[in-house]
Amino acid sequence: MIAYAERFVHESDAEARQDDGVSGLDLQLQGILDWSPAAAAAAARDFGGLRSAKPRAVVRPSGADDVARSVRAALRSPSLTVAARGNGHSINGQAMSDGGLVVDMRAAGAGHFQVVVGAGAGAGGAHYAVVAGGALWDDVLERCLSYGLAPRSYTDYLGLTVGGTLSNAGVSGQAFRHGPQTSNVTELEVVTGQGETLTCSRSDNSELFFAVLGGLGQFGIITKAKILLQPAPDMVRWIRVVYADFGEFTRDAESLVTRPDGDTFDYIEGFAFVNSDDPVNGWPTVPLEPGQRFDPSRLSPDAGSVLYCLELGLHHQRSNPPSDVDSVVGKLLGRLGFVEGLEFRRDVGYADFLLRVQNAERDAKATGLWDAPHPWLNLFVSRNDIAEFDRVVFKGILKDGVGGPMLVYPMVRSRWDKRTSVVLPESGEIFYLIALLRYTLPYPEGPSAKQLVSQNLEILKTCKENRIDYKLYLPYYQSQEEWKWHFGKQWGRFVERKARFDPMAVLAPGQKIFSRSS
Ligand code: FAD
Repeated sequence: MIAYAERFVHESDAEARQDDGVSGLDLQLQGILDWSPAAAAAAARDFGGLRSAKPRAVVRPSGADDVARSVRAALRSPSLTVAARGNGHSINGQAMSDGGLVVDMRAAGAGHFQVVVGAGAGAGGAHYAVVAGGALWDDVLERCLSYGLAPRSYTDYLGLTVGGTLSNAGVSGQAFRHGPQTSNVTELEVVTGQGETLTCSRSDNSELFFAVLGGLGQFGIITKAKILLQPAPDMVRWIRVVYADFGEFTRDAESLVTRPDGDTFDYIEGFAFVNSDDPVNGWPTVPLEPGQRFDPSRLSPDAGSVLYCLELGLHHQRSNPPSDVDSVVGKLLGRLGFVEGLEFRRDVGYADFLLRVQNAERDAKATGLWDAPHPWLNLFVSRNDIAEFDRVVFKGILKDGVGGPMLVYPMVRSRWDKRTSVVLPESGEIFYLIALLRYTLPYPEGPSAKQLVSQNLEILKTCKENRIDYKLYLPYYQSQEEWKWHFGKQWGRFVERKARFDPMAVLAPGQKIFSRSS
């Protein structure tokens, strides 16, 4: 094997291709080792469109054994790195490997799927699915729905892989209740940076389990995950209500996310938007159906330049009489202080609700917005500083919008397990997700990506100057000093975990946290 690996590292692509063909003889893969320029070019791109790094080759694994073979081959070379690529929806090249191997996890994404329907509530009664790390969440949802079950915690967009979101956190409007996706997985199969394939959970190999969750791909490649499921509802009552006052918006949002189950909605998010008729940033982004109209005369004349919308969802069954759903919704909305008359409702099928961003994807692809650069910025901001954030960022730097959604919604710290590698703001039980999801046409029709990146940097600088307690979500830094600042008190643990599970720093080089040792 060593001889194979040496040849793999040093031979020219042409010679290697001759030997390998499509069977990937070098690594003795069951799957494919793809040396084609087209494969390398595809692996050198991501959703962000801001960075590019070409791998030497792309591995299309048939399963965990191929992933382990790839890592072991890299370990035998002096400099090769391995990046697992989920669906490549990172912003800053996090799934790239410059001159190394990219393992296309989607190749084995459909390889494993098993649903276990629990015997009932209580110990041992949970429902779960065991899925491949490269499975897409929309596929997981579809397959679970055929059993009348569904995952408990999502991302807004489901064209992402299980391993990719578990390496970050995975958040959406269910996180206030169930926690992020990292809180809804009970067992993982992981190929470590030492090329070992291990099963881990809260009780077995627990340090690896918690390291990998939110671990930015630094400790192992997730090849299987056991995901908690719940009975799937048929329908969602989807609601949007508008606020002019940020204090009232946050008071209502925080009250909803801290109420007991059964006395609140099943999905709670929110966004900021511009108080104008701008079709991309303003009033027209709020109504849920073509027939609904945002009536600005409902706003008081002293409403500011930025407004806020709570986005809510209530699960129900088709068999529930509509009047029952109306009465539950009426009771819950009756406690809220939104602007009267600025309320929008729609009933949608459960899958359609969860796949709502896929519709936006179709439209964005048609207009070229999907393939343009996306200098997105995601933050977690402590509740203690969210009013200040609103003042200096939403009402200041971003008062004209970002050309796409500006999400702002609260989550509850106790639903997050502090043993995972995810980093949260330092203070408070409640913190907010801020997601600045820019969709603008490529330069020169739209602003240049450089201009948008510098606005992101200005936002971070302003947060620091105003001592706002925040952490980047889906972080990206270029120097270890910055990473140390990001991890704060958790840096020591992160470094220890790296030394234990990937001591040669072979994995996930695109995160730019550690350098490969020889
Ligand atoms: P990739 O971008 O391919 O990889 C991300 C990182 O994880 C890389 O470092 C990679 O090496 C590593 N990795 C990939 N697979 C594995 C694996 N199997 N094992 C170990 N490491 C692995 N996030 C949210 O939380 N909530 C949202 O609502 C949300 N919405 C989004 C909507 C869109 C349109 C986009 C583009 C992104 C969104 N995200 C959201 C962010 C998304 O969760 C992350 O970008 C995620 O990493 C993307 O998953 P991916 O499968 O494309 O991973």
